[in-house]
Amino acid sequence: MSINEEVNKRKTFAIISHPDAGKTTLTEKLLLFGNLIRSAGTVKGKKSGKFATSDWMEIEKQRGISVTSSVMNFPYMGHQVNILDTPGHEDFSEDTYRTLTAVDSVVMIIDATKGIEAQTIKLFKVCRMRGIPIFTFINKLDREGRPPLELLEEIEEVLDIETYPMNWPVGMGKRFLGIFDRHGKQFVRFNGNEDETYIPYQDLDKPENQDLVQNSTFQETEDELALLDEAGDQYSLDAVLRGEQTPIFFGSALAPFGVQTFFDTFISMAPAPTARKSTEGLISPDNPEFSGFVFKIQANMNPAHRDRVAFLRVCSGKFERGMSVKLARTDKPIKLSQSQQFVASSRDTIEEAYAGDIIGIYDPNAYRIGDTLIEGKESFEYDELPQFPPELFKKVTAKNVMKAKQFKKGIEQLVQEGAIQLFRGSNDESYIIGAVGELQYEVFEYRMKNEYNVEVMLESIGERIPRWLKTEQVDRTMFDERNLLVKDREGEYLALFKNDFSLRWFKDKHPDIELVDLFEVN
Ligand code: GDP
Repeated sequence: MSINEEVNKRKTFAIISHPDAGKTTLTEKLLLFGNLIRSAGTVKGKKSGKFATSDWMEIEKQRGISVTSSVMNFPYMGHQVNILDTPGHEDFSEDTYRTLTAVDSVVMIIDATKGIEAQTIKLFKVCRMRGIPIFTFINKLDREGRPPLELLEEIEEVLDIETYPMNWPVGMGKRFLGIFDRHGKQFVRFNGNEDETYIPYQDLDKPENQDLVQNSTFQETEDELALLDEAGDQYSLDAVLRGEQTPIFFGSALAPFGVQTFFDTFISMAPAPTARKSTEGLISPDNPEFSGFVFKIQANMNPAHRDRVAFLRVCSGKFERGMSVKLARTDKPIKLSQSQQFVASSRDTIEEAYAGDIIGIYDPNAYRIGDTLIEGKESFEYDELPQFPPELFKKVTAKNVMKAKQFKKGIEQLVQEGAIQLFRGSNDESYIIGAVGELQYEVFEYRMKNEYNVEVMLESIGERIPRWLKTEQVDRTMFDERNLLVKDREGEYLALFKNDFSLRWFKDKHPDIELVDLFEVN
């Protein structure tokens, strides 16, 4: 098979959602389609929303395939599906955002009873900024949720994206009858107990379907649908692929209902890997020379195995185990010899991979987040990964002042690695660490102690809203504890606002100062 054919088979995506919207449940159903697990319930969603590694190891042993909590891949309908896990709950961190730089599309799950929630907005923004196509699955139709039209309006307003319902539900909860599959021009009837019947539109008139079409809920929905046909947005695959329109699917991951129709349609519409921006222009995925970039580095927390794994998204050419590549940042050759694997826990060796695939490579302390690896003579680097806005800030000091040197070294290395973001107090040069989730601090503290032999003290500054200051002259008197002034790694000033109120107050008072949030910096 040619590189081009291999690339076009790949569908690499992540599922984003607020905790409890149903990511674990939906993922499990998709794995069932891929025959990765035999029956639902094999993979239990743990409290943290992660798959238990032991479950995976067991599955791997049983079936001899590579499934891990970071990347799940399986063949489906002639495609090669790669699902990347986006850690949520307590594991929410910058890695969750960075994962989104390694996918070609995203499935956004929304709980029909709740609508859009905080974490969904954050993750959505990143997808939007990068123009990633977003497919929406509105979940839990088996429960009494909010009216579908209201949910669509909320998506359009809060997320500022066009919607196109690929299907439309008839009733909800106890009155749930099924969905109009607008795309497939059929009615999918909900029979409960994992059973669904597909009725082509032209067969709805048949006598056996009269109980359905005479139902008042069904008739009301038909009117609603007519309205949508007339007044709703027009479907445009181009707009979807540009990330400007999101196709909406209603269903229930648990029932399950509408999952198969959703997945089949999604897989047929979702983009295969496309060209990526680099310092030398666009690099096509079927470029014969291998290239890729590191989007995540995982340090082993076990002191007995102090090794690290770099997660690489293949962007072009063919990866082969043992190949020699070049680290673009340093221009130094590196042999990708041993330990190519999907994740550290599985130790599964892979022999080859193509654009769209994710591989884990042994990191001899050489890589940084965002690094480009290339096979050819030409040198280029893929676009830098954005910095993602931290929300939590803590002042950090060494417990023992005599350890200042190791302290600095440790922080510098962990910052380079992308484990944390570092800011300096504008007055006292104090070290302030920004993170997206608490977990990052735990990892930071642990690694400082175990790898650099420094115990640190963390003092919370609390949740803050960071904004870069676009102005020639920074006047320190404008700032105090409420609007803390700090500098980033490049020496650029930013204010950490205590809350929305102080941000607005500042804007009113200093309309001439342009405030930029991290998303727009890169
Ligand atoms: P995650 O945190 O996004 O991974 O969410 P889970 O998949 O763990 O689901 C959270 C809870 O919602 C669990 O109790 C699920 O059983 C439940 N759930 C998921 N999908 C559905 C659904 O379609 N209908 C109903 N009624 N419950 C669901």
